Amino acid sequence: MKAVYTELHRSHDPQFFLVRGIVKRTTEQPERADRLLAGLKAGKHRLVEPTSFGQGPRARIHSPEYLAFLAEAWDAWSALGDAGPEMIANVHPVRHTATYPTHIVGRLGWHTADTGCPIGPGTFAAACAATDVATTAAQLVMDGEDAVYALCRPPGHHAFRDVAGGFCFLNNSAIAAAHLRLKHERVAILDVDVHHGNGTQGIFYERPDVFTVSIHADPAAYYPYVWGYAHERGAGPGLGANLNIPLSIGTGDDGYMQAMDAARRAIEAFAPTALVVALGLDASEHDPLRGLAVTTPGFRRIGQALARIGLPTVLVQEGGYLSDILGANLTSVLAGFEEAR
Ligand code: ZN
Repeated sequence: MKAVYTELHRSHDPQFFLVRGIVKRTTEQPERADRLLAGLKAGKHRLVEPTSFGQGPRARIHSPEYLAFLAEAWDAWSALGDAGPEMIANVHPVRHTATYPTHIVGRLGWHTADTGCPIGPGTFAAACAATDVATTAAQLVMDGEDAVYALCRPPGHHAFRDVAGGFCFLNNSAIAAAHLRLKHERVAILDVDVHHGNGTQGIFYERPDVFTVSIHADPAAYYPYVWGYAHERGAGPGLGANLNIPLSIGTGDDGYMQAMDAARRAIEAFAPTALVVALGLDASEHDPLRGLAVTTPGFRRIGQALARIGLPTVLVQEGGYLSDILGANLTSVLAGFEEAR
């Protein structure tokens, strides 16, 4: 399988975030990509450099003021003179009769959902490079490849149209789906990250042309807490085009495969002609964010199940954090996919 990758992700190297009131080293580190690359090498996948698509694919999904904020954020923050080495908001407007702010501290609060998305000097460049990786993979599939993997970093599925969150800034999976829509009338996104794909759900919530499905740890007990429940089914013209399958904390391979079956049936009923997989690997039993307990052979079964959906597929890397098994889990899921095609 072709795998799209660029070294440009390295400019985003967040140092810390705030979780449960504790300042911690961010788990979304450049070394993740090195371990994933090792997994690609073990699977003998062919690396492809991304094409630069400019702002167009990003602007299909994200608002002009949000893209301008991300582009200007670091310079405006640095000019404050008394601010920290990374941008983390200290205001979060809840937007009830609120006014879009002009001050960088206000804009930072407006455009970030949580304290898990620190912005540094190279964040926007890396996030833009990741959207090129995702768009290139989508383009390769539109040009006739059966399936292509996109090694995106930073990840994207927690980013809404104009809000960053949970290590994510630009929604790579949504951007890949919107690019596929240039050719395909109906596209499905299946999110297998351990966290609910809240940003992706939000972006397409009222759209009938992109079916969003997410299998994730129960948000009653796990991030992002306020999205990801089974009763969230879409709205307006998009009613019925969103499916959430929350799983109990600690669910293992067999429970996960039951959810995959339900997801496949729902996708088949929607009848799309292309698929984006938001490929988090943090459902692993060894992931430091421990939510579910999928084994390495379990990831192979997930790859097989994804392949059996039978659609041209773009696999976009989402979460999956530093553990000794991270690379092996990527090798396993892609091997499963290829052997079931
Ligand atoms: Zn995740």
